[in-house]
Amino acid sequence: MIVNGYTRTCGLIGNPVEHTMSPAIHNTLAEAMGENLVYLPFHVPRGQVGEAVRGAYALNLLGLNVTVPYKSEVIPFLKETDPLAETIGAVNTLVRTKEGFKGYNTDMPGLYRAMCEDGVGIEGEKILILGAGGVARAVAILAARYGACRIILLNRTPEKARKVADEVNAIAGGEPAEGMALENYQSLPAGERYLAIQATNVGMFPKTDGAVIEDAAFYHKIHTGYDLIFNPAETKFMRLTRENGGRAFGGLKMLLYQGIIAYELWTDHQVSRELAEKAYIEMRKAMHIQ
Ligand code: NAP
Repeated sequence: MIVNGYTRTCGLIGNPVEHTMSPAIHNTLAEAMGENLVYLPFHVPRGQVGEAVRGAYALNLLGLNVTVPYKSEVIPFLKETDPLAETIGAVNTLVRTKEGFKGYNTDMPGLYRAMCEDGVGIEGEKILILGAGGVARAVAILAARYGACRIILLNRTPEKARKVADEVNAIAGGEPAEGMALENYQSLPAGERYLAIQATNVGMFPKTDGAVIEDAAFYHKIHTGYDLIFNPAETKFMRLTRENGGRAFGGLKMLLYQGIIAYELWTDHQVSRELAEKAYIEMRKAMHIQ
């Protein structure tokens, strides 16, 4: 691409950002769509996210993605927050407006698009969410919103799982969600089969040899395992799910679609399915996946 005086800049703020796949997504989309736009990673030192947002606005950036640890910390520095992002309590995309940046959450709709494409439904499902961090909370809200009949959060720190379940119940109305200690998976009723969404960091690169639960008896209760980790593309959780008769999916498509939704917000242009596939191939190449 040719960078000139009209080139618009988008990027990622976080810490660390060095292993990001987002430039592969956005620069592929921009090039294919003939958009004069570049996407760059910006490593922001702890405590300086406010300066980063103000600086980015002053430098006329079109938009930013936000990653750990700033997804909640960034909110006070925005002019406006989209209602979905406000409900989730986390922003991963900033869009330039006349007065300042507006914050959105594209992780949750990105996961929803990925699940639809993978043929994984939520309505009427009994869902286990492993973890109770920022993304697990968004997944629990997604599950409630799309009609899961039961949502069980299993977490190493059970108080956090219960807190998230209470918040989800307050948002959804009724009591679809429940929080439990991770080790209590053994108390799940025999004969029930679940969609399990893996939202912990366990099994993530570089410590790829673990899964948050390793007991085969747990995987017998799962008909589908969806790991939100995207590096490695095939996690131990996915392997254990398959070995015990379930379908398994990884987090790479969620990553792709959260990026595509952000790109559509920045440029106001729809990304076609063919182009989404091209960006997916570029991401896989960047990760050295065949
Ligand atoms: P987070 O807020 O830091 O939450 C981490 C969760 O993992 C917590 O529930 C934590 O339990 C649990 N955990 C960490 N180490 C553990 C261990 N050794 N044993 C048991 N549980 C452990 O992180 P997050 O932002 O929600 O991200 C969660 C996952 O989502 C990450 O793997 C990330 O890569 C993935 N993600 C994927 C995408 C995508 O596009 N595919 C986007 C965003 C995030 P405690 O509460 O007990 O500490």
